[in-house]
Amino acid sequence: MPMDRSNMWTAGNRSHRASAAKPTGSSPMKPQSHFLTICWDGTAEDGTPITLQATLCKAHRQVIALRSASARGVRRQFGESCDLCDGREPRTLAAEAE
Ligand SMILES: [Zn+2]
Repeated sequence: MPMDRSNMWTAGNRSHRASAAKPTGSSPMKPQSHFLTICWDGTAEDGTPITLQATLCKAHRQVIALRSASARGVRRQFGESCDLCDGREPRTLAAEAE
């Protein structure tokens, strides 16, 4: 009785890398009026875990999201300008115990 080995090709393949090939759906017709406040986990100079918060445009939100998997939006917080576009530093929040 021959053994069915076809399963061996699919089992154990765990390469689930998210594809970075995304179509850039930037439309120049829309005004940049959507600034959202997000926060993410970072590390201070002395190694202390901190939470950073900034109000960012869509492009900069994507930059932060790529850098930090912990980036998440702050509810109901909108701004009128992008901190990074204006050269402001992200605000540092006290580390919250979760
Ligand atoms: Zn920006």
